[in-house]
Amino acid sequence: MVGFFQCSVAFLLFLLSSSEDGENTFNRAKLMNIGYAEALKEYDYDCFVFSDVDIIPMDDRNTYKCFSQPRHLSVSMDKFGFRLPYNQYFGGVSALSKEQFLKINGFPNNYWGWGGEDDDIFKRVSSRGMSISRPDGEVGKCRMIRHERDILNDPNPQRFDRIQRTSMTMNTDGVNSLKYEVVKVEKDALFTKITVDVGKP
Ligand code: BGC
Repeated sequence: MVGFFQCSVAFLLFLLSSSEDGENTFNRAKLMNIGYAEALKEYDYDCFVFSDVDIIPMDDRNTYKCFSQPRHLSVSMDKFGFRLPYNQYFGGVSALSKEQFLKINGFPNNYWGWGGEDDDIFKRVSSRGMSISRPDGEVGKCRMIRHERDILNDPNPQRFDRIQRTSMTMNTDGVNSLKYEVVKVEKDALFTKITVDVGKP
C-alpha cells in the first residue's frame, strides 16, 4: 500500500496532506516526517511518496511507487529547464519504502525556512549505502505551479553548515526525535488534511 502525502496546503488526488499551522517559520522536512507518522496511524503502509504541493507530474509513466532504492520522481522540472539542477538534487517529489525511510532515521527536523533539507536527505541516503533511483528525463518531466515564496520561508542561512554535519546529526535528529501537535484533522473522500503545529526554530 502506498501512502501519498504532501506538505503545505491540501490538494486533490492525495490521501494525506500535512500543512503547517500558525505564523511560524516553514519546515518542509519536519512536515514530511509528520506525514509519515500520521499515515502510519491510519494503516501499516510500506511505501511513502513525499510530494511538494506545487509539483504536477506531466507523464503518467512516472509511477508513484517505491523501488529497491529511494526514488527521486521530479527529475526534470520546468523551473530548472527540464533537467536536474545538480546530480545530488533530491527535492520536489520522492518515494521511500518504510524500510528505506527508517534506515536514514527519516528526515531532519531542524531545517527552518527555505533550502538544504533535501540535500540533507540525499546525504542520509548515501551515507547508509543506498543510491538514488530515477526515471529518465522524459518520463520524469513535471511542472511547478508558479507562486511567490511563502512568508516566513526565507532562505535558511544555517543550511550550509547543517548539510556539512548530516552524518553526525542524523542518528539523533529524525523520525526518532519528532515532536509536534495535531491541530485539526479533516477527512475528505480523496485526501486527509492534517493541520499541525511544528513548533519554532
Ligand atoms: C537548496 C535546495 C534546493 C535546490 C534547488 C539548493 O541550493 O539547498 O534545498 O532544492 O537549491 O533550488
